[in-house]
Amino acid sequence: MSVLRFRDVRLVRGGKTILDGVDWDVADGERWVVLGPNGAGKSTLVELASTYQIPSRGRIDVLDQRVGRVDLRELRCDIGYAGAPLARRIRPELSVLDAVLTGPRAMLSTFRQTFGEEERAEAKALLMDLALDALAERRVGTLSEGERQRVQLARTLMTAPKLLLLDEPTAGLDLAGREQLVSRLAVLPHGQRLRAAVLVTHHLEEIPASTTHVLMLRDGRTLAAGPIGETLDSRALSACFGLSLEVAERDGRWTARAGVEG
Ligand code: ADP
Ligand code: MG
Repeated sequence: MSVLRFRDVRLVRGGKTILDGVDWDVADGERWVVLGPNGAGKSTLVELASTYQIPSRGRIDVLDQRVGRVDLRELRCDIGYAGAPLARRIRPELSVLDAVLTGPRAMLSTFRQTFGEEERAEAKALLMDLALDALAERRVGTLSEGERQRVQLARTLMTAPKLLLLDEPTAGLDLAGREQLVSRLAVLPHGQRLRAAVLVTHHLEEIPASTTHVLMLRDGRTLAAGPIGETLDSRALSACFGLSLEVAERDGRWTARAGVEG
């Protein structure tokens, strides 16, 4: 079963070609990481997958539905999309618990104000999962950046997405915050609904151990895509970032450092 299918996708914005010739297949159960330097087009790729951008040419199928042919509002209910810019947009006066409870409402833009016991229990379980339970009554505006990003993740998971898209969810976190988030991402339940996840980063240290596939972008084009163990190596990463890099992997966690020329 296909979760994402990109065919010869191009995106032009403001006269500039941002992505070009992108083919990409994400299947059920896969966990992808998208790597590339600043400006490579990673966020744009994920925006296309989220259906908030429409390709200038080529075809995109999300959850077996052709973007452009189906009612996107319904498709979007199955897509969870989170990143630092969105985390900053959560209303600061909301309590952490209410921010999580209103996640599905924000997405569906309904105006429900009350929540049942079942929804409350689910929100509280997510807060526990993301080590936010002690902060349930705190106002979002008083949280640290890392805490707010975990709230954003809980809020996204509250919508029980089939496809989870995370754009640099660890940006701005300190080392402890990053490690906490990365380890929690690694154990995200592949529950009844969640079918695949895509994580954007430019730090190899942020790749969760559960990652199965990698896509490398440079200047809006795919340099490599495939199973992470076969695809992510010094040669591919050096080409992707345009400098000599040495890649190492240990227990499913990755590091890169400047390598010796030659
Ligand atoms: P990344 O997430 O990999 O850093 P982005 O997808 O955000 O890259 O951006 C890719 C490129 O597209 C960048 O060079 C950026 O400046 C450019 N870009 C993004 N939005 C626009 C826009 N609205 N008009 C023109 N160029 C844009
Ligand atoms: Mg980006």
